[in-house]
Amino acid sequence: MTEYIATIGLEVHVQLKTCSKMFCSCAVEYGAEPNTNVCPVCLGMPGALPVMNEEALKLTALAGLMLGCEIGPVCKFDRKNYFYPDMPKNYQISQYDLPLCLGGAVPLHDLAYPKDAQKTIATKDKKARLTRIHLEEDVAKSFHMETATGIDFNRAGTPLMEIVGEADIASPEEAFAYLTVLQQVMIYGGISDADMEKGQLRCDVNISVRPVGTEKFGTKIEVKNLNSISGVRRALAFEIPRQIEALRGGAVLQQETRRWDDTRGETTLMRIKESAHDYRYFPDPDLLPVKTASLVEAARARKPELPWEKRARFVADFGVSDYDAAVLANDLALASYFETAAKGAKKPKNVANWILNDLQSALSAASLAITDCPVPPHALDELVNLIDTGAINSKQGKEVFAEMFSSRKPAATIVEEKGLKQESDTGAIEVFVDQVIAANPGPAADFKAGKVSALNFLKGQVMKLSKGKANPALAGEILEKKLS
Ligand code: ZN
Ligand code: MN
Repeated sequence: MTEYIATIGLEVHVQLKTCSKMFCSCAVEYGAEPNTNVCPVCLGMPGALPVMNEEALKLTALAGLMLGCEIGPVCKFDRKNYFYPDMPKNYQISQYDLPLCLGGAVPLHDLAYPKDAQKTIATKDKKARLTRIHLEEDVAKSFHMETATGIDFNRAGTPLMEIVGEADIASPEEAFAYLTVLQQVMIYGGISDADMEKGQLRCDVNISVRPVGTEKFGTKIEVKNLNSISGVRRALAFEIPRQIEALRGGAVLQQETRRWDDTRGETTLMRIKESAHDYRYFPDPDLLPVKTASLVEAARARKPELPWEKRARFVADFGVSDYDAAVLANDLALASYFETAAKGAKKPKNVANWILNDLQSALSAASLAITDCPVPPHALDELVNLIDTGAINSKQGKEVFAEMFSSRKPAATIVEEKGLKQESDTGAIEVFVDQVIAANPGPAADFKAGKVSALNFLKGQVMKLSKGKANPALAGEILEKKLS
């Protein structure tokens, strides 16, 4: 049977985090009343003149720097001509032959892959090449109702960055990693919030399959309506075998656009592409070409640490494991939380453990994001220090943490109120130890006879008798001393 390989290309549109639109001063505001942030420019009135948004140019240059693109000395804006009801000018201002950024690559690091696929990554440290990143304006948004269609022009003219990738992606898992890294870079750079559900990051997927050993790409099929990264993965996992099956069955695939149905988990035909669009690009006569030097300089000054750089630094500065560092750096808000808490900590590694275990499970149980965490970083640091210095033991620590999470009180206050202070006074523990030995002559004799596990039982009895307050390490020491 013929084996097939898939070739996947992703086109990603990212809404830039600017205050105003690309070519006018209307506000960019998610969820505003329809058609309230509009003016003659973004409504495409005849004679209205566009004025470039400098911040949008800087953010695009920043994305280019973070992804290793080349930025030429000059970029320019062109008109992309086509008719669509959500685009009143009948052209979109975009960039054609002189985009702001060229080349670059997206490093697909291991933890960007879906969790269940991280152990079976086909090509480690793969870099998916980029063709270009250009800047354009978004179109309006149509709302299809039962008998009519409404158009909201609030989105018309908002700055949009288009990231065009080479067809370097070979599997649904790689596509997942690619989008995850792009999303991280956008968030790290403050370029976009890149929330796919809000349409801030939108992705069109091109897929073709061809027999192994052949050079010529198969028929390209486009899938639209993808609104989550896991949806992209699932759509590809459906579409690739569908195309292979069709070819094996002797079908001839035609160029078409398909829609992903997330609920049914399948793609369906939207339309057949009869001919390639001719957009008749030409330079926008209202906008002069842009010299990029000062933009690049401004962007360079704003270039933040990249996720994979942060990961390496967490290992070097805080002694956390590479895996933990990667999990923390995967999410900028989580990384910032950790860094703030770890700065004052005696043992930053323990802070990382608390964040990755207790804190994260408490947050997910309460459906809260790290940015809404009821325990601020310094408060967690205080708790971990109480445990590390032996003031309370780790079991008491868990009790205190649960209380901090629900009441927002500081750790020290809860320890005080609950009388949880760990008993580290040798004399006090000796009293418990003596009682335990007297009450459990069997296990005591077993330990004396060399049965090491008996000590754990006795230690447990001391902890119980002390109502969990005894310092367990100290209790063990005293038991051993008394029984030797
Ligand atoms: Zn406007
Ligand atoms: Mn575009």
